[in-house]
Amino acid sequence: GHRSGRRVMCLMSDTGGGHRASAQALKDCFELIYGDEFSVHIVDLWSSNSPWPFSKMPNSYFFLVKNPWLWRLNFRCSEPRLLHEIMFKGYTVIVSKHFARAFKEIDPHLIVSVHPLMQHVPMRVLQQMHKQSLISRVPFATVVTDLTRCHATWFHRSVDRCFVATNLVAAQAMRLGLKSEQIACHGLPIRPSFSARRQLSKHELRTKLALDTDAPTVMLVGGGEGMGKLQETAEALAQTLRSTHQVIVVCGRNLRLSDFLQSKVWPLKMVVKGFVHNMAEYMSACDCVISKAGPGTIAEAMICGVPIVLNGCIPCQEEGNIPFVTDNKVGAYSENPRTIAQIVAEWLAPENNAELLAMSSRARALGRPEATFDIIRDLAALVTETQECD
Ligand code: UDP
Repeated sequence: GHRSGRRVMCLMSDTGGGHRASAQALKDCFELIYGDEFSVHIVDLWSSNSPWPFSKMPNSYFFLVKNPWLWRLNFRCSEPRLLHEIMFKGYTVIVSKHFARAFKEIDPHLIVSVHPLMQHVPMRVLQQMHKQSLISRVPFATVVTDLTRCHATWFHRSVDRCFVATNLVAAQAMRLGLKSEQIACHGLPIRPSFSARRQLSKHELRTKLALDTDAPTVMLVGGGEGMGKLQETAEALAQTLRSTHQVIVVCGRNLRLSDFLQSKVWPLKMVVKGFVHNMAEYMSACDCVISKAGPGTIAEAMICGVPIVLNGCIPCQEEGNIPFVTDNKVGAYSENPRTIAQIVAEWLAPENNAELLAMSSRARALGRPEATFDIIRDLAALVTETQECD
């Protein structure tokens, strides 16, 4: 129940599938390892605990992301520390009552933020509440959900721990004033289904998912929202690949797209899905994947050992993910659907099978299937340490 064991409050905002997916991964993993000892409460402080206009922030995120130059402006302008500190001070005044109510309601033993805008304001509110003896000291951890270039607001010098996915991000954290004792580099938190020890074979998975068991298979996905040129790319694949190939399009929450693709007649096996909850199975069943440069999808593809064609990115925070994939020789990048289809056709050609397998094993070597478990163990220790100190 709600009051059993120790409570972990996970701060996120529903801006893109990644943050919610990371929060869910932490929650699932906590339950898996610790059962009733911990209960994890995922809270979207902006939508459910803020007055307007803050409650509309997730919506404005979608607006900004669809207008890349606006997003870039927003990202760059809010980076200088002085500026965002002033901004956050302003926010705090407005939202502090709402945040405080959420903190009192859950009364957490640990707070974990998985969002770049969930450090400064929540920590300020917690500090004020602590000063007024409304709450005891709660350890605060950040789990950074970007792989390469991160927004500066991810990093707060007073956090108890900052979890990062790569050495690149660890270096950025250090540059922004965090001490190495504060930083832990375990990898991106991924749902436990990706780290299952007993994996089914590709053949078994395809049978389970009612896919063609022998056809060379590519997956096309555009994050949780089904973003990017999915329709054009599906069409280009249908034109370029052979009738013996198989394409799986995962449209996420983009219902219009899945309806449209489903209604069409295709010259090859085209499997159209909406939001799938067993992504680990679908990904492991494929030979390669086409996706935007989302950190979650990239990390998942690495764990599954699936080479990846990146077809676009959100400006700034996902840009660095492209060289991450190409420099490590685990994939390619193009925004042109026809070029993408050609790359996939080449990868899937029988004469290039050795190269595809080499890419696949390089991917697997980069994957961090244990990341979520390592993060959870550290988080649990943080709670225990704090309780022993008090
Ligand atoms: N995802 C999923 N089912 C779907 C589509 C996406 O579980 O049908 C998951 C995907 O596995 C990944 C996340 O949604 O964990 C997308 O995160 P990413 O960082 O790639 O992109 P975002 O949507 O956050 O921009």
